Amino acid sequence: MAADTARPVETNQTEGVRELQRVFSLQKSAYAADPNPACEQRIANLKKIIQLAEANEEKFASAISADFGHRARQETTVAEILVTVSGAKLAIKSLRKWMRPRGAPTPTHMLPAKSRIEPQPLGVIGIIAPWNYPVQLALAPTVAALAAGNRVMIKPSELTPRTSEALAEAIASEFDEAECAVITGGVETGQAFTETPFDHLLFTGSTAVGIRVAQAAAKNLTPVTLELGGKSPVIIDKSADINKAVRSIAHGKALNAGQTCIAPDYVLTPQGCENDVADAIAAAARELFPEIDTTPDYSSIVSDRHFARLKSMVEEARDAGARIVEVGSANALHPQRKLPLTLVVNPPETIAAMKEEIFGPVLPILPAGSSDDAIARVNEGDRPLALYWYGNDTSARDEVLSKTVSGGVTVNDTLWHVAQENLPFGGVGKSGIGAYHGKAGFETFSHLKPIFYQSRFANASLLYPPYTDKTDKIIAFARKLL
Ligand code: NAD
Repeated sequence: MAADTARPVETNQTEGVRELQRVFSLQKSAYAADPNPACEQRIANLKKIIQLAEANEEKFASAISADFGHRARQETTVAEILVTVSGAKLAIKSLRKWMRPRGAPTPTHMLPAKSRIEPQPLGVIGIIAPWNYPVQLALAPTVAALAAGNRVMIKPSELTPRTSEALAEAIASEFDEAECAVITGGVETGQAFTETPFDHLLFTGSTAVGIRVAQAAAKNLTPVTLELGGKSPVIIDKSADINKAVRSIAHGKALNAGQTCIAPDYVLTPQGCENDVADAIAAAARELFPEIDTTPDYSSIVSDRHFARLKSMVEEARDAGARIVEVGSANALHPQRKLPLTLVVNPPETIAAMKEEIFGPVLPILPAGSSDDAIARVNEGDRPLALYWYGNDTSARDEVLSKTVSGGVTVNDTLWHVAQENLPFGGVGKSGIGAYHGKAGFETFSHLKPIFYQSRFANASLLYPPYTDKTDKIIAFARKLL
């Protein structure tokens, strides 16, 4: 039964921690009473997610826009609502198959026993979401956790308070809090959340906070999935048609004003092409946003702190002598922290934009002498969350893909691998641990329990002590069967 009123977003941190503990005990007891919900019950839960995402689409769009300063309704519809709904629909369609016990072959020397693997719910799952796609990154993991038959507690970001409140109300309108609940609060609540002995914790956010989350979870041996960030490269091969490539690079970078975990972070071009590529990306961006200063299609930077951080990155690059190409002018007609799409050509390696994840509409563009140089450049840094490769030479492509390690890849476009629900989504190394989406998400939040069914004809007791010459003969015979 759904609660008829949403819990208000709390402002008192201690109250937040108490609320967290209360809901956690409630969910633990509910799990103990019903540890393995039937497929129909899980599908009903997934339908509730679709219902609340669609019914609150306008509310989420306004809340996100107000939290950011501005964000286009269409970006929220596509990146928050459609992505969530498509994940939930795939789970509904596939759930019966995912839940089925899987056969595992039994080796000859163990016959006629049988073996199988049964997916089982883990229990109570904690989900910590960031601010950049605050609905999708709360609800998409929730879809996976509910599909796997768990209870779910969500902790959204304090940087998007209106959205967190809308999310808390939407979840409470569909779910009993013993099944799925939102816990709001600031850093103290966030820390208490990571110290809660969940059966699995999925964190989406920065690598620095991810490390702290993993340390806190380790105290309870709570397994974690860490969906982190990093510097995702674009490699433009010499076989690429640059004019075709630049439109999707401009779009991948400008979406949500670059505040996307898998946004292109820097571009490696063929030697000598860096200025042409920068000009072509700028031209493509001007086509996408003809009035970038005033258009409602272009998002604001989420906070004054992030705005100042990005502006200082650009100033540092300018002072270091990099060529700066700006599409739009900062704050031209908006008081809403709009930052121009800024291309930084040939910057020195020492500046912040080359060392830190940018997470905004600033894009360094630099040449790589050869495909090997591009591979070496990528491998010098931490393993990225995404890698984008443009070109037509399939052997050059396959060499880059086999010699670099990234969370995911899109070839001849940006971003799209995240929307393909049948592909696992996650990072590797500093960009994350584990994955979700589609079947991978179901498995992340399931215990894949191995079960060995001994046969009544088994004669394993022949190997029991007391050991005799006969035991040695049986061991020798068994060795031949291995
Ligand atoms: P963040 O790490 O600052 O915060 C993420 C969440 O953690 C928020 O809910 C925040 O309240 C909470 N938090 C902060 N400090 C905490 C602590 N000490 N203990 C527990 N919880 C704490 O990240 P952000 O600024 O919200 O998001 C931007 C980052 O997230 C970028 O690095 C981006 O690449 C990454 N990101 C990754 C993905 C992905 O799917 N891999 C998606 C979106 C964003």
